[in-house]
Amino acid sequence: MQTARIAIVGAGLSGLYAAFLLEQRGIRDYVLLEARDGLGGRILSVSPSTPQAIDRFDLGPSWFWPGYQHQLDRLVRELGLARFEQFEVGDMLVERSLHEPPRRMHGYVNSPPPMRLAGGMVALIDALHCRLDATRIVVGQTVRRLRRLDQHLELDSEDATGRASTWYVEHVLLAIPPRLAEERIEFSPALPPALARQWRATSTWMAPHAKYLAVYDTPFWREQGLSGVARSVRGPLGEIHDASVPGGSAALFGFFGVPVRVRKNLSGDELRALCRGQLARMFGPLAAMPKAEFIKDWALDPYTATAADMDGAGYHAEAPVARTTSGSWRGCLMGIGSEWSPQFPGYVAGAIEAASLGVQALLASAARKEALSTNPVPLEPQP
Ligand SMILES: Cc1cc2nc3c(=O)[nH]c(=O)nc-3n(C[C@H](O)[C@H](O)[C@H](O)COP(=O)(O)OP(=O)(O)OC[C@H]3O[C@@H](n4cnc5c(N)ncnc54)[C@H](O)[C@@H]3O)c2cc1C
Repeated sequence: MQTARIAIVGAGLSGLYAAFLLEQRGIRDYVLLEARDGLGGRILSVSPSTPQAIDRFDLGPSWFWPGYQHQLDRLVRELGLARFEQFEVGDMLVERSLHEPPRRMHGYVNSPPPMRLAGGMVALIDALHCRLDATRIVVGQTVRRLRRLDQHLELDSEDATGRASTWYVEHVLLAIPPRLAEERIEFSPALPPALARQWRATSTWMAPHAKYLAVYDTPFWREQGLSGVARSVRGPLGEIHDASVPGGSAALFGFFGVPVRVRKNLSGDELRALCRGQLARMFGPLAAMPKAEFIKDWALDPYTATAADMDGAGYHAEAPVARTTSGSWRGCLMGIGSEWSPQFPGYVAGAIEAASLGVQALLASAARKEALSTNPVPLEPQP
């Protein structure tokens, strides 16, 4: 059995940021357990095999909005990460029916503009990771069970071969989507029914979606006065954007418009051929010859989506309650994944907000316990 004061479950942005905040306060007695072999969770940036290290493209989140996501904006500055505006200049293309050719329409520029990080959103993950004590992070460990004991918690995790490990901890921060926590982790005793219902009903933002990305040498569509933005009812991509890297390769990415139950019956080769065909139909023959292509289907990823996400529309759910105020789990278990953020549930900025609220609450509860143990409340009124 291994021990730590705090266990953080999940090394996506919220888990890594919670670890960062704990270390900033001098707390190193924690363990960060991650089911996947790598860090970042829904933040995933890929590189085609080119010598340009600058070429990193997002298959998870691409955008943030520093104009109103101030806490995330401050963190990006503090970590010294470069940013740039999403390219949106030019006309957009629209396919309004199965039979009409694509139409060219006036595009629009969002205000404030969505921003991207140089090096992809994963630059944020890398910057936090390299500031953390690497010995506290354990990857390839899926948390399966949490048991409440008298003063402590027992946490069981499992590696890819099914080998089990047990951790003995005081606090658990759940840095995973609420629905995943409720469905995939066995709580003993069970979570209060109302809380379990709320967590189960909270859809995981973007879990039903999949992205296709095509990389090119040049953004040839810009030469035709096109922004790279397109909408299509014909598909398979429903919404397309420019994903080029300034000073690096050009790219287009699209969100699939067809649901996962259709996608999962097609092979990767079939999906890629359909996407290339659509891009060529809309942007011209050069679009049929990408130098690299990627697909990531989040609905088929067991560390992001559940069966409930496959049918859902994937809307931004209201943040559920993050902790119980009574019963066995009071004061030792807290949800800090992005969906628990009151202001930005489901967003990158939400992962930062939820993690910092969780760490603040944990430190406040630890301080209360400490005060009680050094200065116990008298049982009898003092004369
Ligand atoms: C395609 C897509 C596009 C998006 N676009 C945007 C965007 O443009 N802007 C924006 O703001 N947001 C966007 N988002 C949302 C954004 O990615 C998330 O809000 C954010 O990354 C969530 O971070 P998190 O740490 O809370 O959760 P996650 O990133 O989901 O991290 C949870 C981690 O927990 C791990 N885990 C799960 N179960 C267990 C277990 N039992 N034991 C141990 N580990 C476990 C997972 O492997 C994962 O690493 C997008 C998401 C997707 C998928």
